[in-house]
Order: sequence, then C-alpha cells, then structure tokens
Amino acid sequence: MCKTPASPAFQPVSLDGRTLHVPRRSAHVPAETWAVTYNGPIPDHWQKTAHAKGFNILARVRDRYHLALECRVCGTVTVHKAFTLRTAQPACAGCAEIRRRSAAQDAGLVYLGRDPEDRHYGRYRIPECGHEVRRQFEIIERAAAGKTAIRCETCLQAREENEARRQGWTRLGPDPLGNPNYRLYRHDACGHEQRIAVTNMSWGQCDCATCGESWTAKPSTIYLARITLPRAGRTVLKLGYSANPEKRFRHQLGLPEDAQVTFLRLLAMPTGHAACAAEKRAHAELGRRFPQAVIPPKLYAGQIKVVSEIYTPWLLPEIERVLTRIARDIASPDGARAA
Ligand SMILES: [Zn+2]
Ligand SMILES: [Zn+2]
Ligand SMILES: [Zn+2]
Repeated sequence: MCKTPASPAFQPVSLDGRTLHVPRRSAHVPAETWAVTYNGPIPDHWQKTAHAKGFNILARVRDRYHLALECRVCGTVTVHKAFTLRTAQPACAGCAEIRRRSAAQDAGLVYLGRDPEDRHYGRYRIPECGHEVRRQFEIIERAAAGKTAIRCETCLQAREENEARRQGWTRLGPDPLGNPNYRLYRHDACGHEQRIAVTNMSWGQCDCATCGESWTAKPSTIYLARITLPRAGRTVLKLGYSANPEKRFRHQLGLPEDAQVTFLRLLAMPTGHAACAAEKRAHAELGRRFPQAVIPPKLYAGQIKVVSEIYTPWLLPEIERVLTRIARDIASPDGARAA
C-alpha cells in the first residue's frame, strides 16, 4: 500500500461512471472540467513509470498536464499532474482512506470521515460511549501505536461534573485563566466561584476562599441547627459542617433576614476532611433510615441555599444519636466505624 500523508485532501468527481479523486485544492475548478478526457497519446514510458509507482494511467483528463491514475492496490482513481508522476510518489486517495480507517481501528475508534473544515483532522466515534470526537490524523496514528490515548471530552466533562457535585461544588466550565488542569467551579454552599485543579476536586481538596481556606486540614465543626423560616411558616433541622458555623452560617446558607437560627449542637472535628466524611455518612444513614424525614428541596427553595440535608424537627433524637456516635468515634479513632 502506498504511504500517504494526511494531505492533500481529495474530492470525488464522476468520469464515465467511475469516481475520480481530484485534489481538493482545485475546488475552484468546476467538477465538469475534470470529467473531460484530453485527447493525447499516453506514451509507453509514462505507463512504465506509473506501474513502477503502483498505478495504471487510465486517461489524460482536463488538460495536457493531468492524468487519471488507477491504484493497482485498491483500484481507486486519483488525479495527479504528469509532473508529479515523473518526479514524486503520487498519493492514492483510496489507500489514504483505508490507512486512516485502519489507524482508527488500531486506536480503538470508528473512522467517520475527514473533517470538512480542516484537512489535518478526521471525525471518529468512540465505541464505548458512542460520542463523536474530532482529532488530528497524526494523533490517531500515535494512539494506534499506543503512544497516546484518545479520551472522550463529553464523558470527561460528565465525570468532572459528577465529582464536583459529590464535593458540594458545581463545575461551571474551563479555567478562565486557561490552565488545562483547572476548571471554574461554584461552591454550592455559599455561591462563591473559584478555580480549582481537577485532581484536587476529585480528592475533595477543594478549599473555598469564602467559607474558609484549607478547610480540609483545619479544624472544623459539625453542627445541628434549628432554623425557623417565618415566611415559609416552617421550622427545619439542618445538619452540616463548617469551619466557623456561628459566624458564617447565615451567609453560607443564604438565609432570609427574618430566619431564626438556634445551634442545638456543635461538635468539634479535628479536620475539615474528617467533618466532611462523617457528615456525609450521617446524611446517607439518616436518608436511608428515615426518608420521610428529609424535606423535599422545593419546600424551602429560595429560603435556604442547599439542595438537601434538611430534616423535619421530629428527627431530632435520631440526629442527636448519630452525632453522639460521631463524637465517640472521634475520641477513639481505632474503634471508629465499628459501631
Ligand atoms: Zn490505493
Ligand atoms: Zn463519551
Ligand atoms: Zn464556599
């Protein structure tokens, strides 16, 4: 098979029922021009040269300078200048396409065709997820050789959004400062937007500049608060953690002016990370055992800036019990989790 670089690109034109691949850079030349055979002899030594380079000369086309070359490997007809045949190895449009398809296959992708916008790019489908990606042919060659991996941007974004959600953040988009390892996130608890490295987000090392820096390493507090919302005519319990609940509580939760807050319990935790983990376990347990005590977010929408973890007052004794267990686990870390 003839070795073919990514360029030039060819476009198909019809000649006597056969498809002729003409250089795309001649796009300004109307298709009909190529489909006209040029009445001139094809010298024997031209045919010999063509054979030696893997082609048969099918016809002279358009004018005295151009030849329709049939590939002896794949049968595709490609138009080249007679000069190119004499002085270089003409590219076969068919073999190039086969090569791109096979490179895609070796890279674990399905080749969908060239990118109409850029001759260096192709369109591919990722079989695992069905999404379409656009890549340079050169990158696909490297992937086929195992030198790089082709990742799906669509799936990657979904994964990042999910990781952020687990940590209480919303992934807003790429880093405004252009660092490929960072993204712009919004802290769900306080609404603050900031850049965070993707890896740090996936490990939960996402310190909010508004709620307190380095909360993961600094001491933190798990709180249980009773919130009365006069306008909604509702009293609820909120279990959460914060570096400084008493100071920042109202702001973090975006509570209305008339809301009344009473802290029923404040449990000192050694680190924000421990607080986060214990709080998440507590919510998982309470939600599982008492689903009817979890107040649907629509009942406090616009009053409290969180989307879950708000409970009815009657769950108080159970939450107290969970908090007592967390306090005990903290006091004797070895025996933790066993309870
Ligand atoms: Zn060929
Ligand atoms: Zn995908
Ligand atoms: Zn925050």
